[in-house]
Amino acid sequence: MKQVIAAIISNSEVLPHVYLMWLECPSISQEARPGQFVMVRCGEETVLRRPLSIHQTGDDRLALLYAVIGKGTQWLAARQPGDEIDVLGPLGNGFTVLPEPQNLLLVAGGIGIAPLYYLADMAVKDGKQVTLLYGTANKDRYPVPAGVTEVASTEDGSVGYRGMITELIPQYLEGADQVFACGPLPMLQNMANMPELKERSVQISLEMRMGCGFGVCYSCTIKTGHGLKQVCKDGPVFELNDIIWEEIRI
Ligand SMILES: Cc1cc2nc3c(=O)[nH]c(=O)nc-3n(C[C@H](O)[C@H](O)[C@H](O)COP(=O)(O)OP(=O)(O)OC[C@H]3O[C@@H](n4cnc5c(N)ncnc54)[C@H](O)[C@@H]3O)c2cc1C
Repeated sequence: MKQVIAAIISNSEVLPHVYLMWLECPSISQEARPGQFVMVRCGEETVLRRPLSIHQTGDDRLALLYAVIGKGTQWLAARQPGDEIDVLGPLGNGFTVLPEPQNLLLVAGGIGIAPLYYLADMAVKDGKQVTLLYGTANKDRYPVPAGVTEVASTEDGSVGYRGMITELIPQYLEGADQVFACGPLPMLQNMANMPELKERSVQISLEMRMGCGFGVCYSCTIKTGHGLKQVCKDGPVFELNDIIWEEIRI
C-alpha cells in the first residue's frame, strides 16, 4: 500500500453524473489487480477518504470511474487536469481468477461496472471467454471492453431486456466456470436469495461505507460464515454465500 500524490491527467463526465478520471500513478497502477480499490482524499471538507475501485490501469496510469453522489465525489468531479490528489492504495484482496476455467460470467449493476470492466478486460487479454450481464436504470450505459459478450438490461426497457439484470442470471449460468458480481447491495442480496446460486461460488465486491480503508477503524465490519470480517482489509471481494446477509443494513 502506498500513499501517492497523483497528478490528474483527465477528468470528464462520461455519463450523466458519472466521471472517468485518469491519474498518473505508477506505483499503484503497477501493483493493482482487478477488484482492488484506492482511498482518495477529497479536499478539506471530508475528513474521511472515499473508497473507489481501480477501474483500469495502463502504463503508469490508473483510472477511476465514479458516480457523483455526495460531498466527496462532488469535490472530485470539480478537479481539473494538472491538479493533484492524495491517493492510498492498492487496497483490498481483489478478485481471484483461476488459471484453468475459461468461461467467466460477470454481473454488473449500475456503477458496479467500475471494477468489473477491469476484470473483464484482463480476462479477455488472458484468453478467457467473458459474458457480462450489465444492468442499468436507463440507456445511459458505459461501454464494455472489446472482446466481451455483453447482455444488457435496463429498468425502463430502453436497451436490452426490460427489468433487473439478476432476472437473466439463471439462463447464463450453464457453462460458466466462475461467477463475479458488483452492484448495489439490494442486487447482491437478491443474488444471495437465488436458489440457482446457493451451491455456487460467486465472488462479489461489496461496496460498504468504510472509514480508513486498511483495517484500523472497524467501521466496515460484516458477519460471515467465517466470523467477523472487515470489508476493506479482508474484502472487498467475498463469497456471496459466506456473507450473513440478515446482519447487513441495506
Ligand atoms: C471498496 C469500494 C469500492 C467502491 N468503488 C466505487 C467506484 O468505483 N465508483 C463509485 O462511484 N463508487 C464506488 N464506491 C462507493 C463510493 O465509495 C461512495 O459513493 C463514495 O464514498 C461517496 O462519497 P461522497 O462523499 O460523494 O458521498 P457521501 O456524502 O459520503 O454520501 C452521500 C450519500 O451516499 C450514501 N453512500 C455513501 N457511500 C456509500 C456506499 N459505499 N454505499 C452505499 N451508499 C453510500 C450515503 O449514505 C449518503 O446517503 C465504492 C465503495 C467501496 C467500499
